[in-house]
Order: sequence, then structure tokens, then C-alpha cells
Amino acid sequence: MKSILVTGSNRGIGFGLVKYLTLQPISPQFLFATCRHPTKAEALQEIAEKHKNVHILQLDVTDFESFGSVVKNVESIVQDEGLNLLFNNAGISPKFTRINLVKVEQMTSGFMTNALAPLMLTKAFLPLLKKAAQNKSSESFSASRAAVINFSSILGSIAENSSGGLYPYRASKAALNAITRSMSVDLKSDGIIVTSMHPGWVKTEMGGRNATMTVEESVSNIIRTVLSLSEKHSGKFIQYDGKEVPW
Ligand code: NDP
Repeated sequence: MKSILVTGSNRGIGFGLVKYLTLQPISPQFLFATCRHPTKAEALQEIAEKHKNVHILQLDVTDFESFGSVVKNVESIVQDEGLNLLFNNAGISPKFTRINLVKVEQMTSGFMTNALAPLMLTKAFLPLLKKAAQNKSSESFSASRAAVINFSSILGSIAENSSGGLYPYRASKAALNAITRSMSVDLKSDGIIVTSMHPGWVKTEMGGRNATMTVEESVSNIIRTVLSLSEKHSGKFIQYDGKEVPW
């Protein structure tokens, strides 16, 4: 895989993905680690110092107006190779969202970051994703050809919801799942895989310290699963180890 872009890569799972990918025997040629505040992302800067394939780019995923210049920036580096893999990882989980406490602002910000941002960012990167897919048009569907991984959550599964609450998070991730399915249909003829990924319950700021998986466990599983994706996984909701999650 030549080029990968990760959103929200200054901490948590996004940072774990970048770190893990730089430690592989064959690291991608171009690894775009995006975050809201690059100057504050010290751990990421340390990685970029050591690994010259890591390019840190400023990206607030809700700043839709900025997407054009981010895409241009990436294009100036990958040129005609396009972008193989987009990890829509950045996400938020508003707190205190039981029925009596939920606020409109939590719903709109949840939708903005967790659902609209992955949709609009993928739309902005379509020319580069299509270019990457086209360059390998003789190959079957795979993440090393072109793929979009939308970080969803089991909490976005309607079938698995037996405890209620969490309106902004659940509803925005369910919306993201609907977006994944539509994009998978729309981008099939371009040879681009689109999959929703539940990363497991992971020890990050969002997952909390009681979570069952470390970031390293989650990302190593995710990368193994992503590398094994084929056409049959497009439009599916899977978890870190490749097991399908009910919608
Ligand atoms: P964290 O809260 O630890 O990290 C979230 C990341 O998203 C941070 O880098 C944060 O940046 C970034 N982010 C938030 N809003 C924006 C924005 N507007 N623009 C750019 N970046 C932004 O979360 P995790 O690493 O745990 O989660 C990663 C993904 O996995 C999320 O989509 C989450 O919903 C999903 N997930 C996580 C689970 C878990 O157990 N941890 C379980 C299921 C799903 P900043 O530092 O600037 O805030």
C-alpha cells in the first residue's frame, strides 16, 4: 500500500495506527497523519522526525471549507499515485446523554464530527481514491488498491442497543453506518471498498481505563483485518478482528 491518511492521529487509536504503521517492515510510502493542532502533537512530531514517510497535516474534520487545500497538499506529495487508504478515525462522544439531559448542540456536534465529516472528507478525496484504484484496475478489490474505513462503534448498532441513552453517539454512528453502505454502492464501479469498523472497546480517552483492549491490540488487529479486505467486505459493518457486527 503506497499511501494512507488517518484523521485524528494525535492521540488514541489514530495515533496508535500511525505508530504501528511506521513500525512495520514495509511501511507505506506516504503516511498522512492529520490532526487539529499539529504544533501540540508532540508524540506525533517525534514519530515524523524518525520516519520521513510521515507527513503531519492540519485538519479539523468539521472545517469542511479547508478540505480542498488538504486534498491539494496530499496530491502535491502523492502526485499521480492517488490515495489508497483513508481512515476516517476522528470522533467524539458527548457525555451525559440520557433522555432528560440530551441537548440539541450535542446531537448536531455528534452528527457533524462522526457522520458528516467522514462523508464530506471522503467526497473531497474521491479524485485521489479513484486515481489509486484506477492505477491498479487489473487487480481485484483490496485496501492496497483503494479503501475507506469509517470508524463506527458497536454503540451505533441498532440491533445491539439494549441499554438506551447515548443519543448523539449512537445516532451519529448509526448514520455513519448508513453512509458507509451508500458509499460502498456508489463507489463499487470505481473499485473502492468502503467499510464500517468497530475497533473494539479500547483504552483511550474515549474508551476509558476499564476498556478491554489496549490501543496496540486494537490497531494490530485492525491493520491485519484491513489488509484482508475484499469486495465482499464492502458495505459491511465489521469489528477489529474481521467479525461482522449486526447493523
Ligand atoms: P479519543 O477520544 O481518544 O481520540 C479522538 C481523536 O479524534 C483525537 O485525536 C481528537 O483530536 C480527534 N478529533 C475529535 N474531533 C475532531 C475534529 N473535529 N477534527 C479532527 N480531529 C478530531 O478516541 P478513540 O481514539 O478512542 O476513538 C477513535 C475512533 O474510534 C472514534 O471514531 C471513536 O468513535 C471510535 N471508537 C472508539 C472506541 C473505544 O473504545 N475507544 C470504541 C468504538 C469506537 P483532539 O485531540 O484535537 O481532540
